[in-house]
Amino acid sequence: MPRQSRTRLWVLLVLVLVLAVVGPLSYLGWRQSVPRVRLTSEPPKTLGHTTQATLVLEAARGNVTGVEVRVVQGGKTTLAAKADGPLGARAEVPLTIETSALGLREGSATLEVHARDDFWRPLTLDSGPVVAAPVTIDLTPPKLDILSSTRYVSNGGVALVVFRVDGASRSQVSVGTTGFPSFAYGPPERGARVALIALPYDFAAGTPLAIRAEDDAGNVTTRAIPHELKPRKFPVDRIEIRDNFLEAKVPELLPQRNPSQPLVEGFLTINRDQREQAEQEKRRIGAQTSATPLWDGAFVQPRNTKVFSNFAETRTYVYQGREIDRQVHYGYDLASTKQSPIPAANRGAVVFAGPLTIYGNTVVVDHGLGLQTLYAHMSSIDVKVGDTIDKGQTLGRSGTTGLAIGDHLHYETLVSGVSVTPVEWWDAKWIRDRFNLPLKTAGLPEIAGLDAPAAAASEDDAPKPRPRRRR
Ligand SMILES: [Zn+2]
Repeated sequence: MPRQSRTRLWVLLVLVLVLAVVGPLSYLGWRQSVPRVRLTSEPPKTLGHTTQATLVLEAARGNVTGVEVRVVQGGKTTLAAKADGPLGARAEVPLTIETSALGLREGSATLEVHARDDFWRPLTLDSGPVVAAPVTIDLTPPKLDILSSTRYVSNGGVALVVFRVDGASRSQVSVGTTGFPSFAYGPPERGARVALIALPYDFAAGTPLAIRAEDDAGNVTTRAIPHELKPRKFPVDRIEIRDNFLEAKVPELLPQRNPSQPLVEGFLTINRDQREQAEQEKRRIGAQTSATPLWDGAFVQPRNTKVFSNFAETRTYVYQGREIDRQVHYGYDLASTKQSPIPAANRGAVVFAGPLTIYGNTVVVDHGLGLQTLYAHMSSIDVKVGDTIDKGQTLGRSGTTGLAIGDHLHYETLVSGVSVTPVEWWDAKWIRDRFNLPLKTAGLPEIAGLDAPAAAASEDDAPKPRPRRRR
């Protein structure tokens, strides 16, 4: 064999040998270097008695096969929760950590997340936790004290509750399943919160009025709001629906309807669906409220008006001698002369101005703490959203827009979008006893303009210049 060919053979042999060693070695090296499971969600920062957490884990190769949460406290490691089995390349693992059952103490600790995958690596080294983060163990429920509340409450009416909460990240005041917001009130060092709550017209005795406070660790404290229920009865009425009313109103409120559909069917769509839409809109508008009261004194009623219909009147609608529908009327119908000016019942800010289904042209004035007044069926509107309104200021003129029979003002009082009787807020004595008294009991500033009964009574028929507020 020539010398040159021999050299070539040797080079080839060496190359093959090198490849035979380096190839598998670098393959094994690559396998070893593939990253382990990553945690892509935030681990919990606080643990309460029971903490639910969902960990999101991702395997670079293969599948996540197991996860363990360990808590290290005072040099002792406790297994807090685990999940096993093929969990997929990306796993969302819900875990429940029963902190108190594990014998962990309140205070700081370290939370470790350990995870495995099924990707084969030549060496099984303990690579430690995928995450080790500080965690606070908090087993103390929030402190919640009710300082005062309206003693006598009625269905279709309002109550004020004053409370103090400590060590909570959120609190919820509720009437049955309906939640109401609360607001910081008075000197900040007192730490008091107030909430106006509405009892719906059909509030059933025994429905819980409660405050629930929760902290970041999931600890919960609940308190019942003390009260005595004075039930209120509401009237019933029958409304005769005539063809000329349907001919005037159905095309106005249902412009898209099929002309072959009987007008009375269109009326039922309006009376049910549009009424329901308006209810939802009222709840949405009710959330746009000032965190401080904007109003003072009693609320005013428009001058020289006659009450045509009351709050929470159950109306049976009759067409051609047969009952076609039944609905509840959520306001007062006040009528005087046609297109009469509509005064704002109290100081506030306009949060809605425009058409609102069956209500026609509507203005909603926010008075703060969730308290709002609504003015409907207007022929014209003189204000716009964002305007600051004085008590007695003209908002527009009465009319027949929406589902109105004859020119009148439909007036509502709302608390966080729930309709209540306006009667309470027209009455200075009611506001003194049911709103100011709980504030006074809790040592907080009261609403001004309610001191002299004689002066308050005269507000019923004459808008007054803006009184000074004590706060
Ligand atoms: Zn009405």
